[in-house]
Amino acid sequence: MDAAVAQRTEASAAPAMGLKKVFRNAQKAFDLIQKHRTPPDPKTYAVWYAYVDGTDPRVVTRVDETIAQTGGLSPFDIDAIFRELLTEETGVSARHTIGLAIEKEIAGVLKIIETGVQNSDDFGASLDKARQELPNSVSGDDIAKLVSNLMEDNKRMAETTRELNQGLMDSRKQIATLNKELEEVQTQCLRDPLTSISNRRAFDERLEREVRAAAETGEKLCLALADIDHFKNVNDTYGHQIGDAVLQQFASIVTQNIKGQDMVARYGGEEFAIILPETDLFSAYNLLVKIKYNFKSSETPIDGTLKTLKDVTASFGLVRYEPGMTTRDMIEQADHFLYEAKHAGRDRVKAKGF
Ligand code: GH3
Ligand code: MG
Ligand code: MG
Repeated sequence: MDAAVAQRTEASAAPAMGLKKVFRNAQKAFDLIQKHRTPPDPKTYAVWYAYVDGTDPRVVTRVDETIAQTGGLSPFDIDAIFRELLTEETGVSARHTIGLAIEKEIAGVLKIIETGVQNSDDFGASLDKARQELPNSVSGDDIAKLVSNLMEDNKRMAETTRELNQGLMDSRKQIATLNKELEEVQTQCLRDPLTSISNRRAFDERLEREVRAAAETGEKLCLALADIDHFKNVNDTYGHQIGDAVLQQFASIVTQNIKGQDMVARYGGEEFAIILPETDLFSAYNLLVKIKYNFKSSETPIDGTLKTLKDVTASFGLVRYEPGMTTRDMIEQADHFLYEAKHAGRDRVKAKGF
């Protein structure tokens, strides 16, 4: 093989190597998910990404140890690792890692296009060279050699183009999958797993936005904090699982009674927050009374029996946005009225003037 041919062969091998490297990191996590047949949910992706990423050595050690001991990662293991090692911070890190993987894919696509351009330039140069050499080629051997060189170049280019096309297709698929995962992880970071409503983080972000909007536009805004009454008794009497079902029931009743731009979030254990934009205090008060009534008259089935749990109640503290208020002021005042509702005997809504 002469030097020029050697150089060309190397050049055509290069894009394949580059592509492999680009896909490797993202692919590894997906391969591990398939290999270990772990459930395809965002938590699993977060754990495997953290593992492949390797920035937290505790995750790597823990995963390796679990696999060594049990031969795999069960949904239970994934859950435990997620809970213990991948706190909310890691939700951010998983998002970041997937974000990086997407960036890499895009870099890969650019590289493919660049290589494609480079390849057709090389082929063009090869044609030009042949054209120049043609008039001087006297013997049939020379012409045969030229033609065979050109055919070889052509073949190599076709192969490279096929590889590049395949690479582009893989990349497009990968980007779509990664985007979907990213969306799922983002949604997961903003939801409360028990009730499926928004979590505290989503609430904080939203209230911040609504207070800013109310300050700018002078639009009305109300905030309520709700707390289940004597909830400890529910747990103590019927067990934690029934307690959980009551929380789900409350979340579902509020969700059914609010609309469009309103938001209900799980604020803490058995506390909920309700944001009501463009709503005056009177309408908000009436809505909460309705929710309070619907919740009180709802029934929660008691597992394994034909009985239902009835007459669980909730208390509400309601506040209206006044110019100059911060999110903190609103939460403190809603909490103050909630406290009043509890002390006035529970099962009621309290607000300024009500
Ligand atoms: P009050 O009427 O004054 O609000 O009394 P309470 O019993 O509701 O309030 P307390 O703060 O004493 O008890 C709240 C209980 O909520 C204690 C805690 O174990 C329970 N809890 C918090 N989060 C959860 C959860 O996710 N599931 C269940 N089942 N219980 C929870
Ligand atoms: Mg409470
Ligand atoms: Mg309570």
